[in-house]
Amino acid sequence: MEDNKLTRFKEHRDETQYRVYDEHARDGVAEFYYQNHIHQTVDFVKAKRAQWLPPSSKCEMSFWEAVNFLNTLVDDSDPDIDLSQLDHHLQTAEAMRQDGLPRWFVLAGFVHDMGKVLCLWDEPQYCVVGDTFPVGCRWSPKIVYSEFFRDNPDAKVPLYQTENGIYEPKCGLDNVLMSWGHDEYLSQVTRPYLPVEAQWVIRYHSFYSWHKEGEYKHLMNDTDVEKFHWVKKFNPYDLYSKKPVKPDWKKLQPYYQELVAEYFPEIIKW
Ligand code: FE
Ligand code: FE
Repeated sequence: MEDNKLTRFKEHRDETQYRVYDEHARDGVAEFYYQNHIHQTVDFVKAKRAQWLPPSSKCEMSFWEAVNFLNTLVDDSDPDIDLSQLDHHLQTAEAMRQDGLPRWFVLAGFVHDMGKVLCLWDEPQYCVVGDTFPVGCRWSPKIVYSEFFRDNPDAKVPLYQTENGIYEPKCGLDNVLMSWGHDEYLSQVTRPYLPVEAQWVIRYHSFYSWHKEGEYKHLMNDTDVEKFHWVKKFNPYDLYSKKPVKPDWKKLQPYYQELVAEYFPEIIKW
């Protein structure tokens, strides 16, 4: 993205004021990450995948029913926003639309956090939101609050503490077990409907130690270079479009109703 487009995102705060994880972060962010980092083990991720991923299905509901729920949720892991998830989706997608990005990409922006519907079914936020990271191999020290991993049971499993862990070198990120959260869940729920590039954006958008810090290159294959491109392109819209001003939903609704109907059926298996 060109710099002049980025500046629009910075009206509210400058770039250094996003993702600040220190004593200035909103109450609960550090506690959230402690819970996340001690619970996300290989066994935990496998159990969550079996519980939530297709063909398991919790219910059938329309996209817009899910949106209505999300509109009541505030993400504990996010130090940057106190608006609803619909507002966040609209701010992200609108910034993309204003930059003339393709419709599938704007849609990816509009849906990327819908996996947070997991909170509907009483999943604690530490297994729904926050940054994601591979499990089953050594944690990158660049993962936010990585010091908390000392209390994760996998710290005592020698194989999981090697560079490649349970994986082959260059095995490809799609073969890597990511910590459990809204990203993996939504990418699989939407897999029948969205282009593969949109699924990449959804699956990896919270994998900051990879797309921001450049870690885990040893697990990447050739396709992952293309993934990196799209996820990286997406990230500023997810992050820097966050503003305290609520988008005008009434005005924007017709556009998004048409866009959603173009890709999704009336009822989705969640
Ligand atoms: Fe997200
Ligand atoms: Fe987001």
